[in-house]
Amino acid sequence: MTNITLTIIKPDAVKDGHAGAILDQITKAGFCVKALKLKQLSAVEAGQFYAVHKERPFYNDLVNYMCSGPVMPAILEKDNAVADFRVLIGATNPANADAGTIRKNFGKSIESNAIHGSDSDENAAIEGAFFFAGLEVC
Ligand code: ADP
Ligand code: MG
Repeated sequence: MTNITLTIIKPDAVKDGHAGAILDQITKAGFCVKALKLKQLSAVEAGQFYAVHKERPFYNDLVNYMCSGPVMPAILEKDNAVADFRVLIGATNPANADAGTIRKNFGKSIESNAIHGSDSDENAAIEGAFFFAGLEVC
């Protein structure tokens, strides 16, 4: 698949009841939902997803955060999906995110920043396959 990205509505945003508003903002921005689920990650699964960051000082906290409650992963489709979605979610640190972005609207801190977005087409494909079997993708 091309023109897809993988998002995760993170545990704090799900817990605080923002998933509906976030999905509304995503679809109004022109993204089509191709797959969606609610999922409680184990520490092993969260660690696998963020393995690229395993040498970073925040890795253990990040893994604990990502399995602190259910998340909502989704595969999204749109022309130029990866880059356009990074614009929609804003900077990693919500304090630095542009007004109106999802992280500015719903993020609490550089760690609890409400949402994930893939950083490349290659990683979007890897991350999509991490969460969804082929039969789960429309
Ligand atoms: P992004 O999610 O914007 O692609 P990264 O891939 O660099 O950012 O980091 C992955 C996730 O790790 C971030 O979304 C955030 O939840 C967390 N994170 C990043 N940097 C820090 C940090 N300095 N301290 C704590 N958590 C961080
Ligand atoms: Mg990243």
